[in-house]
Amino acid sequence: MNLNDQWMQRDLAVLWHPCTQMKDHERLPVIPIKRGDGVWLEDFNGKRYLDAVSSWWVNVFGHGNPRINQRIKDQLDNLEHVMLAGFSHQPVIELSERLVQITPAGLNRVFYADNGSSGIEVALKMSFHYWLNSGKTAKQRFVTLTNSYHGETIAAMSVGDVSLFTETYKSLLLDTIKVPSPDCYLRPEGVSWEAHSRTMFAAMEQTLAEHHHEVAAVIVEPLIQGAGGMRMYHPIYLTLLREACDRYGVHLIHDEIAVGFGRTGSMFACEQAGITPDFLVLSKALTGGYLPMAAVLTTDDIYQAFYADYATLRAFLHSHTYTGNPLACAAALATLDIFRDDNIIEANKALANRMASATAHLVDHPNVAEVRQTGMALAIEMVQDKASKTPYAWQERRGLKVYQHALERGALLRPLGNVVYFLPPYVITPEQIDFLAEVASEGIDLACRDSISVSVLSNLHPNHRDPG
Ligand SMILES: *Cc1c(COP(=O)(O)O)cnc(C)c1O
Repeated sequence: MNLNDQWMQRDLAVLWHPCTQMKDHERLPVIPIKRGDGVWLEDFNGKRYLDAVSSWWVNVFGHGNPRINQRIKDQLDNLEHVMLAGFSHQPVIELSERLVQITPAGLNRVFYADNGSSGIEVALKMSFHYWLNSGKTAKQRFVTLTNSYHGETIAAMSVGDVSLFTETYKSLLLDTIKVPSPDCYLRPEGVSWEAHSRTMFAAMEQTLAEHHHEVAAVIVEPLIQGAGGMRMYHPIYLTLLREACDRYGVHLIHDEIAVGFGRTGSMFACEQAGITPDFLVLSKALTGGYLPMAAVLTTDDIYQAFYADYATLRAFLHSHTYTGNPLACAAALATLDIFRDDNIIEANKALANRMASATAHLVDHPNVAEVRQTGMALAIEMVQDKASKTPYAWQERRGLKVYQHALERGALLRPLGNVVYFLPPYVITPEQIDFLAEVASEGIDLACRDSISVSVLSNLHPNHRDPG
């Protein structure tokens, strides 16, 4: 038995993998990774895979990046961890200063959590609590967009709308208000992204007019709805939303967990709308993809609503044990240094252009409804019928075929349902982008060629994050 198979057997005897129907692994191998090097992941048989999805959107400067590695090693020799209540340390202070510096003006306070979903919980609780402390006790609900994703804990799921993840748990969820997404995939033919996103804002305006007295905050994924299939919209929507939230006295929460740190072409997506949200939630690429951490940035106004004598009981008594972990902060500081020293946002423009040109031919593919892009995220939507944009039935799991083909060819391309996408580390080369485009084209050809019997597959679960 080869080494991969040995590790796989041991894995399947004891592990329960995330976002996975484990029975799928009767047919699909688990791939044990021995080491990472730049954009490459290498398994125990020495086969290499180009990490086209940045290991679930976290890795920006490659696996085993020498600069991040060194910073973590140096930190390890000084302090691995200390609790952040009552205590502090150099990396968390420096990181907070840097985050305040590089985010839009007005975000002056940083609260830490240890993963994205927890960061969302912090923002939701802080917003709710702010209104309570301000005597506006009716403001208890949240407004969210259809097809949005904000994580897997109960409140985070409540403000999400990817039914695959939330439907089962519906009876446990908070009662939120859902407004139709400005998603431009669904715009009428001939209408620009900007015009469509602007038109879609009318529903948000109406919702806020009707419900603002009972709404604490609106939460959005700025510019890209990631887990909902890399659906994209125009920054004008965010500009209009900021103005409306101010007018109606409602907080704006930007979940930039996936899009922060250069993914949309600017360091943060909110920059493209020229706005400052009341809460900016960061995670994923924050540590370069090394360690779990989230940061929630907020304003002086919100901070002050909690600042009072202890006995008034206005404090935000929320904590996660590993909050502000020094090793994670060190990884984040090294990551921010690379952004600054290597002028990454500027350098990424050439890579984004290459992603566009390498995939341009797919626009004419008979089963591709759209090739869309925002900065360093590019998505290809496979459909059964191009003219009507009729999707393939989820049971057919066409994306899974692309995934399997890519693995054979040495690429980790893990589609969201029928959406094949590239979200590569920024250390990818133009030639590697061309390789990915070639592999994706072949995979899409293969996946769309055959008719698939739905009945054979009907026992399988739909799964957006899972291949197919
Ligand atoms: C991944 C993600 C989350 C959840 O982060 P976790 O660290 O997986 O809990 C929340 N929001 C968005 C937009 C994400 O992409």
